[in-house]
Amino acid sequence: MALKSRKLSFTTPIMVSFSGILLSFVLIAVFITFTQRSDFLEDYHKINRNFTHNLAVNYTESILRENDYILAHAVTFFSRNNQLDNTINGDPEKGLQLLMQLQNLMPMVSSISLADTAGHYLRAPEVLSTNKSATFDARTRPWFIAQAETSSFSRYTSPYIDYFLKHPTITIYKPVISPGGRLKGTLAFHLDLTSMSYTLRQMVAPVQGEFYIVERDGKVVLHPDSGMLFKRHVSEKLMEQMTSGEGHIYDKKTRTWYYYYSFTNPDWFVIYQVSGATLNELTRHETTIIGWGFSLAAIIIILFGLYLRHASSTILMNIINAIKTGDVSRTPRLEAMLSHTIQSNKEREMAYVRQATHDALTGCKNRRAFDSDIAELMNNHQPFALALVDIDNFKSINDTLGHLSGDIVLRNVAREGLQVMQPHNISVYRYGGEEFAVIFPAELLNSASAILEGWRIAVEKRIWREENLHVTFSAGLGEWQFEPLEQFVGSVDSALYRAKQQGKNQILNTSDS
Ligand code: GH3
Ligand code: MG
Ligand code: MG
Repeated sequence: MALKSRKLSFTTPIMVSFSGILLSFVLIAVFITFTQRSDFLEDYHKINRNFTHNLAVNYTESILRENDYILAHAVTFFSRNNQLDNTINGDPEKGLQLLMQLQNLMPMVSSISLADTAGHYLRAPEVLSTNKSATFDARTRPWFIAQAETSSFSRYTSPYIDYFLKHPTITIYKPVISPGGRLKGTLAFHLDLTSMSYTLRQMVAPVQGEFYIVERDGKVVLHPDSGMLFKRHVSEKLMEQMTSGEGHIYDKKTRTWYYYYSFTNPDWFVIYQVSGATLNELTRHETTIIGWGFSLAAIIIILFGLYLRHASSTILMNIINAIKTGDVSRTPRLEAMLSHTIQSNKEREMAYVRQATHDALTGCKNRRAFDSDIAELMNNHQPFALALVDIDNFKSINDTLGHLSGDIVLRNVAREGLQVMQPHNISVYRYGGEEFAVIFPAELLNSASAILEGWRIAVEKRIWREENLHVTFSAGLGEWQFEPLEQFVGSVDSALYRAKQQGKNQILNTSDS
């Protein structure tokens, strides 16, 4: 039967299974690590957007709204009767006091200007008269409103340098319009950007980054570093991407995240910029921790896989060892049972084979074994010699000592024969009742006669327990001349017969006639 033999290793299925487990584990780990990474990034975006929102709503917008509110009320006050004209031109001393009271209400407002349409103005706190102030014309200021405009909203200037103090400034201003609709002048609150920027410095950002306020064109209005004021800090292209409301965008060129919040009046943007590298570093740190956890788990899986492989091959080796040596002390219980079963099966099989081919009384091979052995030699045309041995006067031994003693004699004659023949690897058969056969292989043809003679002498000289017992045998010996079996056995048998005739206790060859 041709068996398709594929090399099957005991540990292969274990290693394949563990590799499968490990592979799935690694795939899951990589998937989780990556999704976790994007989750972490999303978390940081949320934190940064919140910070930007707070900076815009709770800090900037609240200052602006407060000033806006006071400005609206003050404008209403100056629009009634001749209040504006009286303040600027009527009693400037009292007017200055009034403006100072107003300014004290607003910590962020550094000074206030009130001007009429002709360009007469009051500024609180007052600017001392110098050459410069003599040439000052309020009508050239960015906050001056020369003619009535439809909009009565508060408006904001772009940052500019204050005429007298040379400080970077923005101004929130509003026209003073009489109930009759006539433009009377302008009320303006000046905000000193340098001192406002200082307060920005007290803000603490959640991750390392830069936060500031720009106009729509990207120029800086407020920055913790007052040196940055007026500078265009964000490109117009980026500013265009910042739609109204709030959100975040990524600038691929500078690899920077921009979180923004936009106001409508003034048209400003609060911006918090964080470099992509900073965020990557933070998320990498968190994913590295997860990565280490997964790696540790993978190592544990590998160790368990190797242990299982080692343990199973050790068990297998122990079983094989136990089967080979019969020593089951090192095999586990289950495997010990297995090896016992294998052992006893083998022994039983050997016993059956022995029973089928051996004679129980003498221990020699039986007649069936003789027939098959001699047939095999003849079929293979292998030369051999055959001896037929017959115990002399056995009937009388039986008759005088009894059958049991006869059996004992039979067994002892056989034992002597086996002792002589076995060292030469020569088989002895029980051929019939008290008859034996010996087959000498080709290489012992020459010494066959001598070896057989050794057996004869051993039996003859043997001292028996029974008194007066003397046992001998006669034998015929012949080499096979490739004749048929019956003819050959017949010739050996005649040699035996002749030996009996010539006085027993002797061996005659077929060739001696
Ligand atoms: P010879 O010298 O001519 O061989 O004389 P013999 O007495 O041996 O002659 P024979 O062959 O006629 O006798 C053999 C006897 O061996 C017959 C039988 O009772 C006895 N015998 C055969 N098989 C057994 C056996 O298994 N046990 C015992 N005890 N006797 C057996
Ligand atoms: Mg006989
Ligand atoms: Mg006999």
